[in-house]
Amino acid sequence: MKAKPVALAEIKKRSFQKFIKSMFFTMREVGGVGLAAPQVGVPLRLAVIRVGKKSPSIVLINPKIESHSKTEQQDWEGCLSFPSVRGLVPRYEKMVVSYYDEAGKKQRKIIDRFSEARVFQHEIDHLDGALYVDRMRDMKSLMAFSEYKKRIPGK
Ligand code: ZN
Repeated sequence: MKAKPVALAEIKKRSFQKFIKSMFFTMREVGGVGLAAPQVGVPLRLAVIRVGKKSPSIVLINPKIESHSKTEQQDWEGCLSFPSVRGLVPRYEKMVVSYYDEAGKKQRKIIDRFSEARVFQHEIDHLDGALYVDRMRDMKSLMAFSEYKKRIPGK
């Protein structure tokens, strides 16, 4: 299911701001790097992202991929909605995304780090009702997290 755009007048409302905070809280609690509102049962085009402890907290409202590289890379992904599996997923290496931030200000961001670009694509997919397994080219790489930890070095 495709999530609905957030009405811009809603962004500054207290209830919406509280919801954003609760999403960051939930994401931290489960140790994730991104969380989309539909994952917590709210069908709005809103996601929160924090790719690392030293990275900024990003609120993506009504995001749109403006452009992306032709080249893709595959890397392992997991999802907070199915925490016990991992799979190899192809994603664009670089992209330009526009969105509204938590202050309702329009932002345009060039993402040239693959590790960051794939998180953005994963979360935006959630807003379109797509899961990473829908993007996988080879379902054979889908494996239980316990097996993944044994088989993939350095993970
Ligand atoms: Zn996910």
